[in-house]
Amino acid sequence: MTFSIHGLPVARGIAIGRAVLMAGRVDVAHYFIQPGEVEAEIERVRAGRNAVIDEINRLQQTIAGMGPKEAPHELSALLDVHLMLLQDEDLIDGVKHWIRERLYNAEWALTTQLEQLSRQFDDMEDEYLRERKADLEQVAERILRYMKGVATPAAPPRGRRKTQQDLLLDDSVDVPLVLIAHDLSPADMLQFKQSVFAGFVTDVGGKTSHTAIVARSMDIPAVVGARSASHLVRQDDWVIVDGDDGVMIVDPSPIILAEYGFKQRQAELERGRLARLRHTPAITLDGQKVELLANIELPEDAVGAVAAGAGGVGLFRSEFLFMGRKGHLPDEDEQYEAYRRAVEGMQGLPVTIRTIDVGADKPLDHEHRDAAHLNPALGLRAIRWCLADPAMFLTQLRAILRAALHGKVNLLIPMLAHASEVRQTLSLLDFARAELDNRGVAYGQVQVGAMIEIPAAALTLRTFLHYFDFLSIGTNDLIQYTLAIDRADESVAHLYDPLHPAVLQLVARTIAECNAAGKSVSVCGEMAGDTTLTRLLLGLGLRSFSMHPAQILAVKQEVLRADAQRLATWAQQVLAADEPAQLLA
Ligand code: PEP
Ligand code: MG
Repeated sequence: MTFSIHGLPVARGIAIGRAVLMAGRVDVAHYFIQPGEVEAEIERVRAGRNAVIDEINRLQQTIAGMGPKEAPHELSALLDVHLMLLQDEDLIDGVKHWIRERLYNAEWALTTQLEQLSRQFDDMEDEYLRERKADLEQVAERILRYMKGVATPAAPPRGRRKTQQDLLLDDSVDVPLVLIAHDLSPADMLQFKQSVFAGFVTDVGGKTSHTAIVARSMDIPAVVGARSASHLVRQDDWVIVDGDDGVMIVDPSPIILAEYGFKQRQAELERGRLARLRHTPAITLDGQKVELLANIELPEDAVGAVAAGAGGVGLFRSEFLFMGRKGHLPDEDEQYEAYRRAVEGMQGLPVTIRTIDVGADKPLDHEHRDAAHLNPALGLRAIRWCLADPAMFLTQLRAILRAALHGKVNLLIPMLAHASEVRQTLSLLDFARAELDNRGVAYGQVQVGAMIEIPAAALTLRTFLHYFDFLSIGTNDLIQYTLAIDRADESVAHLYDPLHPAVLQLVARTIAECNAAGKSVSVCGEMAGDTTLTRLLLGLGLRSFSMHPAQILAVKQEVLRADAQRLATWAQQVLAADEPAQLLA
């Protein structure tokens, strides 16, 4: 039966494929194997299962020799249950199915089957049997651990995404897959950057949560905040993800499939049309030159930024280099190499590297995700975190300074609010230079900028203009902090409003004061890539926009059609309105 689930649209486009439910296990590898690797993958799971069976048998023998105090009867009974689950053919048959029919790698096949069986356990009437789900999860976990430690799977092949046409012609192994999860952290999303998935849907998340931002940067249709999606959709259901309208359609009828197939083709045509603007300079009708820059998360993203015609990188979110490292943060050399790769990847164009901005909805690891902070967005985040750990911060600063030898590098500091933080940051930067001097290590010149993303900073711009070479407006956080709306919380997403008069006042004032002081200013929050806001920002005097590479050509089209001088008068009316959105409609 066809039904739809509504959420928030976060990355444009239409994806049609089979649902892959991620039951909280995103840390296993997901890739397709070659047909010739099927038997070896099945063998890997079988070997894992047999090893765990042996381990449990050994344990049974050990506890058989113990008294009831050291080894209560329940322990032995529990191990029996585990053995029974391990020997159950449903587990291994299911795994074989996913490997043979879908060419999933072994770990992915195992977790998919686990998810399938878990649902059957959930549906059981008998409470005792229902509770065996936890045991099943434990045995699967043991097999996964064994597989990780012993066998090394083949490297995942890249980029096997199929089109709607392929899909309709071929309903076999190679269909597009749509990932459906309760939640995905930014680090999880990063793992999927080169992945096989054609679309993403999560139960939770706001429009400018970092998970949504990474999905957008991958240019893969995505819907977040779809509430109960991961409960309502079953493994392998056909689904359509409509990233334009924020809807997922489950089990679509042939008519709906045809309609969305048509939409997909229209989007392709539009892409082709925009691609022709790639080499056109971004200049308004009245001759104003506009800088269109890229936001990137990893050095490898530089290639896409250049291909999209970016004039440089306006925001390199360096924190993504630090995520999922289980406490082993990259050292100076590793960071230097990463920044250098980004700089060289931009082929002479400038790169603005933002110092690490972790905390809130960007934890370093899964373990830290639910840290018991009452208000993580207001806590030890970004520059506050760096100033609390000067050794870590100095390491990053030295690495960035060294990378500046290889091209034009700007250094951008997030989340500043206090003059004391500004002074502390700049002293540490001087200190980092002195350390490199002492070591006799060469480094380059950098322009230093601050993000304006806390209302307090926007209201005390004088201080920032005094200390910094340039400013960059982080509208995602500026909106969050001005309106007291958690950007990652879908339950208040309807109140997250870039056009709230208070937000516009802060943005307008920052642009105007920078322009008057002759300091360069850009917007690097999601507002910069939103084509419905391009004219307004141009009218407010903005001439530098930094966004996901996938948005650059669409924004350029808006710039080419705009008359900045006429927009300036209109923008003042928008600014004075009680409900600015009505003037943009
Ligand atoms: C912002 O806050 O607008 C921004 C660009 O930074 P981030 O989204 O990484 O917090
Ligand atoms: Mg921010």
